[in-house]
Amino acid sequence: MDDRPAPRVGLVSLGCPKALVDSERIMTQLRAEGYELSKTYRGADVVIVNTCGFLDSAKAESLQAIGEAMAENGKVVVTGCMGAQPEQIRDAFPNVFSITGPAKYEAVVEAVHRAAPPVHDPFVDLVPPQGLKLTPRHYAYLKISEGCNNRCTFCIIPQLRGDLVSRPAGDVLREAEKLVKAGVKELLVISQDTSAYGIDMRFQESLWGDRQVRTKFLDLCRELGSLGVWTRLHYVYPYPHVDEVIPLMAEGKILPYLDIPLQHASPNVLKAMRRPAHQEKTLERIRRWREICPDITIRSTFIAGFPGETDADHEFMLDWLDEAQLDRVGCFPFEPVSGAPANELGPVVPDDVKKARHRRFMERQEKISARKMKNKVGKRFQVLIDHADGALGRGRTKGDAPEIDGSVNVRSRLPLRVGEIVTVKIERADAHDLWGVAA
Ligand code: SF4
Repeated sequence: MDDRPAPRVGLVSLGCPKALVDSERIMTQLRAEGYELSKTYRGADVVIVNTCGFLDSAKAESLQAIGEAMAENGKVVVTGCMGAQPEQIRDAFPNVFSITGPAKYEAVVEAVHRAAPPVHDPFVDLVPPQGLKLTPRHYAYLKISEGCNNRCTFCIIPQLRGDLVSRPAGDVLREAEKLVKAGVKELLVISQDTSAYGIDMRFQESLWGDRQVRTKFLDLCRELGSLGVWTRLHYVYPYPHVDEVIPLMAEGKILPYLDIPLQHASPNVLKAMRRPAHQEKTLERIRRWREICPDITIRSTFIAGFPGETDADHEFMLDWLDEAQLDRVGCFPFEPVSGAPANELGPVVPDDVKKARHRRFMERQEKISARKMKNKVGKRFQVLIDHADGALGRGRTKGDAPEIDGSVNVRSRLPLRVGEIVTVKIERADAHDLWGVAA
C-alpha cells in the first residue's frame, strides 16, 4: 500500500447555490479517493477555485481569488462558470494548472489527480454515504437539473451551461433520501428553471424504491413531500402547471414558499428581456395561488434600469408591486454582462436614473414588507434553528429561505440546538426580521 501522506486540496467556492452544489460534488469525489481538505492555501498540494462568471463584478472577484491562490500556492485548478471563457483567466494568470467550465466534475477531479496524485488505500472509505456538504448539516441544496432552455437577453447561463438537462427523478429522490437520513431537515430545490424540470426527458419515468416516478415537476414535489422534511422551491416561473403544486403546499407536504424571479412587470420590458412565461397573467396567477394556499410566501427579484426601460415602465412596475403585495423582494440595478444580447439593446438608462429607480422601488417594497412583517406579531410560527448560543438562537420560519430572506431571533427557557424546529411566538418585527420567544 502507498504510504505517502494523503494529498491535501484547498477549495474556494464562489457564486450561487448551484456552484456550491458543484463544489460539494467535487469534494465528495475527492474525499472518496482519500484526499484531505486543507483550510489554507499553503497547506494544500493543489487549490481548486470554483468561479462565478455571471456579472462583471463576480468575474473580478473570481480573478482576485485565483490571484490569491496563485500567489500563496501556485498550483491552481480553475472551474465554474468563468472557466467557460478561459481566455480572460489565461491572460491574467498564464500558469494556472487547468481551466474547466461549470459542472465538469470529472475534468476537475482528473486535473487534481495530475496535480497531486491520489494515495491508494482500498480499505479506507472516507466518504459518509450522503456525501460531503459545504452547507450547514441541517439544510442542503438539491440540484435537479443543469442548464436552461430559455434565452433571457441579460443572461449568459445557457451559453455557459448549455440547454436543460434534468436529472432522472429516481436519482434526485435517492440523493434527497440520503440527505434526510443524514439529518438534513430542509431541502432547497434549485436549478435554472425548476418549473421546466423533466421537459427535456419527456417526463420519462425512473425507478425509486419499488415504483416508477415521472421526471416531472409535480411528481417530484409530491415525492419530496413524502420525505417528512421541509422542501423549498427556488427558481420557479409562473406557468399554468405551477398551479398544480400549490395544493401540496396547502396540505403541508412542501413548504408554502415560491421563489419566482420575475425581474419586471411591464410587458414591454419583459418582452425585451425575453423572460419565460412573460405572457402569463401573473397577478391573476398569484391571486389564485393565495386562494388555494393563503399562507404562501412569494419571493421575487427585479431589475431596475434595463435598457429601454422608460419612466412609464418603471411606474408600471411600482403599481404592480402595490397590487401584488409580494412577501420578499430583491431588486438590482441593471448591470451589463459581457456576451449578453441585452448589451445591444437601448436606449441605455443613465446610472443616476438607474440608481434613483432602484431606490424608489426598494422604498415602495419596504413599506409592503414592514406591514406584512408587523402582521406576524402575536402569532406563532415553527422556526428552524440555524444558530444557537445557549438559550438564544436565530432561525427561519417556513417563509424564509437561508441566506436570502430574513430571520427570527429567538429567546428560550431551554438551550436551543441547531437543526431543531421550535414554535416561536413573535413579539416584534421590522421590515426584514422577527423577534420572539420559544413557546
Ligand atoms: S431562465 Fe433566463 S435568466 Fe434564468 S438561467 Fe435561463 S436564460 Fe438565464
